[in-house]
Amino acid sequence: MRMRTLTRTLDILRSSGIRITPQRLAVYESIAVLDHPSADEIYENLRSVYPAMSVATIYNTVERLVQEGLVHVITVNGKRRYDFRLEHHDHLLCQQCHRLADFPDDLPPLGTASPKEVLAEDGKWAINQQTVIWEGICPRCMNLRR
Ligand SMILES: [Zn+2]
Ligand SMILES: [Zn+2]
Repeated sequence: MRMRTLTRTLDILRSSGIRITPQRLAVYESIAVLDHPSADEIYENLRSVYPAMSVATIYNTVERLVQEGLVHVITVNGKRRYDFRLEHHDHLLCQQCHRLADFPDDLPPLGTASPKEVLAEDGKWAINQQTVIWEGICPRCMNLRR
């Protein structure tokens, strides 16, 4: 599942050459726990534990993790969100609370030609990465509406 063990996390950080501080570890762990957070959301999550940590520090730490290939960036509505899972996967975006969730791995294929195939046939595009975001209303927001 999503959570890597602390030992594994430390191994990953060590092998990347990043100096491990409790703050950096906390930022990395936050990305795993918060499910595609923005830098602001990581800040909110860590504010009570590390009051001295600024949004700028968190942003720099996260971008360093991105540089090292430990975290992926997904830009949603112009905002950078951070993904802990490194292998390709699709996302679900809630239009109400902007929660970004991983698209379930166990759904059957939807049976439509992929945009990549269509664009390649057209001869104009070479697609290197396909990002699909399924938008709708998440279960939490559905419950609030009732
Ligand atoms: Zn929602
Ligand atoms: Zn994801």
